[in-house]
Amino acid sequence: MTITGRCFCGAVRWESPEPPIVTRWCWCRECQYLGAGSGTVNSAFRTATFKVTGKTTDWTSIADSGNRMHRKFCPACGTPLFSDAEVRPHLIFVRVGTFDDPSLAKPAMTIWTSSAPYWACIDPDLPKVEKQPPPAA
Ligand SMILES: [Zn+2]
Ligand SMILES: [Zn+2]
Repeated sequence: MTITGRCFCGAVRWESPEPPIVTRWCWCRECQYLGAGSGTVNSAFRTATFKVTGKTTDWTSIADSGNRMHRKFCPACGTPLFSDAEVRPHLIFVRVGTFDDPSLAKPAMTIWTSSAPYWACIDPDLPKVEKQPPPAA
């Protein structure tokens, strides 16, 4: 099954021949900036088989763990598309809002719940981790 997606304006498109390795709902403070106040839902894919067409803007930052993170955006419409950590170059994290069919990715876990505001809607049926869980793979 090929999974496809794009930014809001369509200048950046992506494609994966494989389903996501894992999907997580993240309430870290950075994700709240990207998610307009909500957490973000992100699926991990294997970089080796993941294809991107179109140019992205890369913004780098250092995570609490000390890892250098890259966050990639469409330079035309600003949609946050991808993130990756330099220590785990084999994985790319894809914002689920960019899936052509977001129902193909179902969160398996909520992470960084300790950073969520008190009014956050957090699914009681999903496992919760207060901060960063162990790496996906
Ligand atoms: Zn765009
Ligand atoms: Zn986050």
